[in-house]
Amino acid sequence: MKVRLILLAPLLFTLSCLGKSAKWYKGNTHAHTTLCGHADSSPSVVAQWYHDNGYHFAILSEHNKFIDPKTVKLKGEVRKDFLLLPGEEVTGRKTVHSTAMNVNRLVPWNFDHQHRSKIIQKHVDETIKAGGTTILNHPNFGWAVQAKDMLPVKKLYLFELYNGHPSVHNFGDHRHPSTEELWDDLLTQGMTIYGVGSDDAHHFADWKPNKSNPGRGWVMVQSEELSSDAITNAMKRGDFYASSGVMLKKAVRGVKSIEVEVDEKATDEELASPILIGRKVKEGKEGYLIEFIGPKGKVIESSSETKASCPVNLPYLRCKVTKRVKKDNGDLLEYYAWVQPVFTDGREKKIEE
Ligand SMILES: [Zn+2]
Ligand SMILES: [Zn+2]
Repeated sequence: MKVRLILLAPLLFTLSCLGKSAKWYKGNTHAHTTLCGHADSSPSVVAQWYHDNGYHFAILSEHNKFIDPKTVKLKGEVRKDFLLLPGEEVTGRKTVHSTAMNVNRLVPWNFDHQHRSKIIQKHVDETIKAGGTTILNHPNFGWAVQAKDMLPVKKLYLFELYNGHPSVHNFGDHRHPSTEELWDDLLTQGMTIYGVGSDDAHHFADWKPNKSNPGRGWVMVQSEELSSDAITNAMKRGDFYASSGVMLKKAVRGVKSIEVEVDEKATDEELASPILIGRKVKEGKEGYLIEFIGPKGKVIESSSETKASCPVNLPYLRCKVTKRVKKDNGDLLEYYAWVQPVFTDGREKKIEE
């Protein structure tokens, strides 16, 4: 692994270059196979699903097992723009799980400590030793991970803001914050952390809302090329958005402003899928809502148009796009795209590649 500090100049250069030669790549960082004993399809079948459903990359993130992408065979003509990115779900003590993204071998998991922050730090350090990057998974699964557990961790830049598994409590409950509230808390307290969307898929043969099917949460990564290193580094720079259904034509994270534009056609196509699970809400207007959100989760500006921009005058600013839909049965459902924050306090300059 090459270690270098991203200084401001190359970062500006990268931001200004993105959009010209960089492309969008759709990916899922979290899926399981029969190797874990509680999922229903082989590594080949799982990889084939992502290949056949238009994804550009996928990680077979098995519980404490490393699946070498070279050993996974796909059927028929394999698209040149499809990549199996190596990884593992480091499934540790005290319900601390993390995706070890872009590792070259198995990452040890059997480490315990009275403080979860130390367990997470061990995941991060061991993943770096294996050449990779940590995504802290489903913090609200078993209500295991709180802000105080993540804040002290060094070199943790990614966490699952949205996970498609039915039992992970993305949106919290009356006693626990949602993962988005957790994110705002971490960002407000100065952490450099980006939010990932993933499937955590286990079931490719049985399709029901209460099964963990694929196709529910993903990332759109803007990268110069489709390689394991390029995709991982783009995510560490925040050059991506997480989605539970909404697709964007434009997500420009400039130095001084954020600009977004919805891809209505692509969003309609995604929302037509019976696989997607919207968030049920009680009230709200149908249509799009773009919100620019600053420290403490405060909405700075909002728009019901399909494109908007907002200057960044605060320590950080992020953007969330909601599509609210009324179903035939009267249910009001929300689908989202979450654009990563832009920082003006220089905190992101310390991220190591
Ligand atoms: Zn897990
Ligand atoms: Zn998992």
